[in-house]
Amino acid sequence: MITLPVDIEMIKGFMAAEEGAALYQAALSVAGLGPCLEIGTYCGKSAVYLGTACREVGGLLFTIDHHRGSEENQPGWEYHDRDLWDESAGALDTLPVLRRTLRSAGLEETVIPIVGRSAIVARVWAQPLGLVFIDGGHTFEAAEADYRLWSPHVAIGGVLAIHDVFPDPATGGRPPFEIYQMALASGLFKEEEAVSSLRILRRQH
Ligand code: SAH
Ligand code: MG
Repeated sequence: MITLPVDIEMIKGFMAAEEGAALYQAALSVAGLGPCLEIGTYCGKSAVYLGTACREVGGLLFTIDHHRGSEENQPGWEYHDRDLWDESAGALDTLPVLRRTLRSAGLEETVIPIVGRSAIVARVWAQPLGLVFIDGGHTFEAAEADYRLWSPHVAIGGVLAIHDVFPDPATGGRPPFEIYQMALASGLFKEEEAVSSLRILRRQH
């Protein structure tokens, strides 16, 4: 049973409690290997689970998002939330909500938001990571880039976590499942846990 610093039900997002608990445990398990990094912050729901673990062990979580939403968050799509619309920008903006989440959770010194497209941030990234959590764009292009550009930064013994892995195409889109299969096929990662659509893989060598 985890004690979170905030009422998680109040935070908008796409992270089930049992998946969040698995992320929390995974982040604890990599203490000392390097900071954690998340792709796909949205309003900070999964960042609260990961960040709470990081804070307990004196670590850091970097969390990347351009904060303009994925395709499914745009107007007219299934997961559009009109309360997140920035009228002046004519675009979605989840950053102000994220800042409120981190402040209310007391995680401003532990969770470091990076505002930008994940592939652009990856151009300059050099720090080995204890955990990489891929939960960003669901197009093949976005998911494949996140896997290709970020999984090499996972330290040996570290964790690659992937969300929205649906082996049955009837239950969800394919790209996260496809990169999960690429990770297993690489021989570098071994599956440790599957919780709902979350997969926890551990880097072997
Ligand atoms: N982890 C969140 C949900 C993430 S939703 C939770 O727990 O609720 C996916 C997020 O990925 C969206 O906020 C979207 O803006 C972001 N995203 C999509 N493609 C991206 C990209 N290429 N770079 C950075 N962020 C991206
Ligand atoms: Mg997700």
